[in-house]
Amino acid sequence: MQDLTQQRCHHHKFREAVARCPECRRFFCRECITEHADKVLCASCLGKNLRTGAERSHRFQWFFRLGHFFMGVMILYILFYYFAQILLAFPSSFHEGTLWQSGWWTGS
Ligand SMILES: [Zn+2]
Ligand SMILES: [Zn+2]
Repeated sequence: MQDLTQQRCHHHKFREAVARCPECRRFFCRECITEHADKVLCASCLGKNLRTGAERSHRFQWFFRLGHFFMGVMILYILFYYFAQILLAFPSSFHEGTLWQSGWWTGS
């Protein structure tokens, strides 16, 4: 393990390093290191993190939208299915009604 006080900033060769980036394992001065979400990162790693986070949320949004689309299709499918079932149920009951009205019990 190297001593932090003997390290120099990755960007500023003559400046003393104050922190080490946990992502790229390089040393940085007070100016080059930034705090983000309770994590101390260098500027380049912070940009990388923000970009991947944005991509992740974008991908999630796309997935969410796809889920909504399929949910809508499913609801439409179920509605049409029941609508078709109702339509199919009408003629059979009507037929049964006429059969009973025609008087099958009279023998004709
Ligand atoms: Zn870094
Ligand atoms: Zn620096």
